[in-house]
Amino acid sequence: MYRYETHLHTVEGSACGFTPGAEYPAIYKERGYDGIFITDHFFHGNTRPSRELPWPEYVDAYMKGYEEAKKAGDRIGFKVFFGIEENFEGDEFLIYGVGREFLLAHPTIPRWTREEMIKWVHEAGGAVMQAHPFRDRDYIKKIHLYPEDIEGIEGINTANTANDNLAALCYALHFGLMIQAGSDTHHTSMISDMNGGILYDTPIESETDFANRLLKQERPKIFFNEELFKDMKGINIKLPVEIRRNGRWEDMDVEEIMTWVRAAGAAGNDKAGQPEGIVGEIVAKLKA
Ligand SMILES: [Zn+2]
Ligand SMILES: [Zn+2]
Repeated sequence: MYRYETHLHTVEGSACGFTPGAEYPAIYKERGYDGIFITDHFFHGNTRPSRELPWPEYVDAYMKGYEEAKKAGDRIGFKVFFGIEENFEGDEFLIYGVGREFLLAHPTIPRWTREEMIKWVHEAGGAVMQAHPFRDRDYIKKIHLYPEDIEGIEGINTANTANDNLAALCYALHFGLMIQAGSDTHHTSMISDMNGGILYDTPIESETDFANRLLKQERPKIFFNEELFKDMKGINIKLPVEIRRNGRWEDMDVEEIMTWVRAAGAAGNDKAGQPEGIVGEIVAKLKA
C-alpha cells in the first residue's frame, strides 16, 4: 500500500503555518509515507502572501511553500504534490488537480463564490473535497454540507476534535460519501503516530492522477489512530447546519443529523467512555 498525507501547511503559504515547505519531505519519507500534498490556505483563507499583490505575484508567493517542498522532495526521491485549501465563511475545501496554469487563467478568483470554485475546478479536471465539515470553532458561524456537488469529505482531520471528526464520519456514512484523512499539520511538532492519511494500492503519479481517482470515486483506504477518539462521550453539534440538496440550501434540524449518528452506532450515553466500541463500529463500516 502507498501512503499519503493529504492536508499540510507551510510557513510560506499559510499565515498560521510554521514550517518551511523544504523541511517536510525528509520527515515524511522517514515516517514511511510515499508522498505529501501541500495544501496552503488560499486567497479567502488564512493565506500568507498579501492579497494586495497583483494576481500573478500572489500566485507565485502562494505556491512558494509547495515549490520549496517539491525541490527538497526531488532531491531525495520523495513525491510532493500541489493542493489548495480555500475558505468561504469558515467552510474549507481541499482542491486537487489544478495548478499554476489554472490559477493564472482565473484572475477573478479573488471574487469567486463557493459554487464558482466548484464549477471552475471541475471544468479544469480537478477535484474538491470538503475539509473537516463539522469543525466547530469560534470563527465558524454555520456548518454547510455538500453531499451532492463535490467528490467527498475529509472524515478524519487530526487537528480537529474527536467530536467533529466522528460527526463528519457519520455524515459520510449516511450519504455514502467518499472519505479521506489528513493531518492538517502546520508545524513539524504536529507530525506523530496520531496522524491520519490515505492509502492506495498503486502509487499516485501526479496531482491529475489523484484528482482523476477522486472524480471516478476510486476511494482511498484511510488510516488514523483510534486513540483520537479515546475521550469521546457521544456527539454534540452546536452550530446551525445548512445542507445543499438539489441545488438549494436548506436548514437542517440537528435531530436529523443525530439519526445518522445513531445509525452509525456513534451516539448514546451508554457508550460514553467506551471508545473502542464507538470507533470500532464506525471503522467496521468504513472497511465494509
Ligand atoms: Zn491554518
Ligand atoms: Zn488546513
